[in-house]
Amino acid sequence: MNNLLTGLHQFHNRFGREREFYSKLAAGQHPSALFIGCSDSRVDPSIITQTGLGELFVMRNAGNIVPCYGASNGGEPATIEYAVSALGVKDIIVCGHSGCGAIQAMLHPETMAKLPSVKSWLNHAEATRQIILENYPKLTGEDQLAAAVREHVLVQIENLQTHPAVAVQLQRGELTLHAWIYRMQTGEVLAYSSDDGKFTALTSLPPEEAGKRKVSNPRQAKKK
Ligand SMILES: [Zn+2]
Repeated sequence: MNNLLTGLHQFHNRFGREREFYSKLAAGQHPSALFIGCSDSRVDPSIITQTGLGELFVMRNAGNIVPCYGASNGGEPATIEYAVSALGVKDIIVCGHSGCGAIQAMLHPETMAKLPSVKSWLNHAEATRQIILENYPKLTGEDQLAAAVREHVLVQIENLQTHPAVAVQLQRGELTLHAWIYRMQTGEVLAYSSDDGKFTALTSLPPEEAGKRKVSNPRQAKKK
């Protein structure tokens, strides 16, 4: 706890030095993106993306799960709706990560016997579990977990599109969806592209190529 108290003092000192910036922030927020990530303490969105206060609207939970619209009474639908309809974010990033404990638990439900709330929450990720069991039957261990992390992020992107606010902005072409995976062994972020169906490290690409890696917009394509 002491390190947290030290941090509070350091931040308060910085606040005093940058008062003008924080006064503007206090007047209102204008984040450009909604970042949906795992609660894992090693996967901090602002640190990974080197963004500051006010730049990201963040939703974190165990396993970076986006329940389908109507499937959860938790805060997820409200957070998504507020980010898209009230704040007008232009991008939504769903970011999974290597070695995710929630995904590992979801693959092995027997490990959650004494964690009834976790087990219940991870039921929202049942589609991922079925995809891995049915379509990747030969994978085990780390290979199975890595495949599950990838498939899981893509399932959450599909779930996002069941949210009315997201569907509306996608059809207008005013929202872009991104599927990312943070690899904690290397510090890289891999991004999925619908063009090649692969996850590729963004930092291995020139900026103009990295900027093109996104999930294509099925609703907008239908309009053409
Ligand atoms: Zn995780």
